[in-house]
Amino acid sequence: MNDFEKAQRPTPKAGVMDIAAYVPGKATLGGANKVHKLSANESPLGASPHAVEAYRTTEHYLSSYPDGEVMALRQAIAETQGLNIENILCGNGSDELLGLLCQTYLAAGDEAVFTDHGFLIYKIQTLAAGAKPVIVKENDTVIDVDAVLAAITDRTKIVFVTNPGNPTGTYLPFAEINRLHAGLPKHVLLVLDAAYAEYVRKNDYEAGVALVSSSDNVVMTRTFSKIHGLPALRIGWMYAPAHVTDAVNRVRGPFNMNSAAIAAGAAAIRDRNHVQASVEFNTQWSQWLSEAFTKLGLKVTPSVTNFLLVHFPDTANKSAAKADEYLQSKGYILRRVTSYGFPEALRMSIGSEEANRGVIAALEEFLKS
Ligand SMILES: *Cc1c(COP(=O)(O)O)cnc(C)c1O
Repeated sequence: MNDFEKAQRPTPKAGVMDIAAYVPGKATLGGANKVHKLSANESPLGASPHAVEAYRTTEHYLSSYPDGEVMALRQAIAETQGLNIENILCGNGSDELLGLLCQTYLAAGDEAVFTDHGFLIYKIQTLAAGAKPVIVKENDTVIDVDAVLAAITDRTKIVFVTNPGNPTGTYLPFAEINRLHAGLPKHVLLVLDAAYAEYVRKNDYEAGVALVSSSDNVVMTRTFSKIHGLPALRIGWMYAPAHVTDAVNRVRGPFNMNSAAIAAGAAAIRDRNHVQASVEFNTQWSQWLSEAFTKLGLKVTPSVTNFLLVHFPDTANKSAAKADEYLQSKGYILRRVTSYGFPEALRMSIGSEEANRGVIAALEEFLKS
């Protein structure tokens, strides 16, 4: 095909070809041996049995459209979290909600601000909306509120904050989020992506409910993919002022949530025992793993989430890339995080007891060899 022919083809709008497509964490290794996938922050305890049962009942309704208002799920979220149902909007994963917020609030020439270790979806969706990503450096592995505030201009429409952070696992105390919010012009939407909120055991952390309730420009997004163990069904939700849910409702697909997701999600969030057990398992093994990595001489960023950022020495034969290769040869898939700005680290999701012990044993061999 020559240049003339190329110029005649349909062309994507400005920004689209600047997007680097999201590359998910590896799931398989191609071998026959048992593989432990620790690359996508999935729950080792899986979904609640009640959620699985609710999912099965939906096979009887496959020929009907799902409930476009997603009542059963929004009701379950409202009741269990003590929130107003009118301020809850669900999405096909929180990824969809982040994209809808960009489509709703960003136009060409607008800017969205986020940090260099922030979730990759912010950049993808900002570019897809035709707007400009403005990327602010974190203070090592923690969001620098002053640097974020310094990046705000008249063109800023959205600020994305991952709290707790992925892949860092660190968090901003709520006093810092309040300070950030207080420094923003009223026209800027502050999006608090709290995908890992349930795991946090800190008195000075809050996912964002109070700030959403008391202001006109804050949105909190949440997901069923992590603590609830339902990533396959794609369930996210946001808590937002009514004027925001009203605007996003106009943009979203009328049936963006499927019937299986609605039924299973509602059952999952009502199963408080399963949530509690998942949190306790995580707290115990996160601590065990952090200590074990430290004993091996590896630096671990203190984490409040269900994954750990483990830093490797910058030497040719003990690098993160070499460790990753070695772990894969033993059946353990961790996540390279070069695209998040950490070429010398691996992110490990807290796995089953067998997987956790196995990774430590394998790394001990790797570091000795
Ligand atoms: C996993 C994750 C999400 C959730 O995505 P879903 O689309 O709900 O599966 C959102 N934000 C961050 C930072 C995440 O790590």
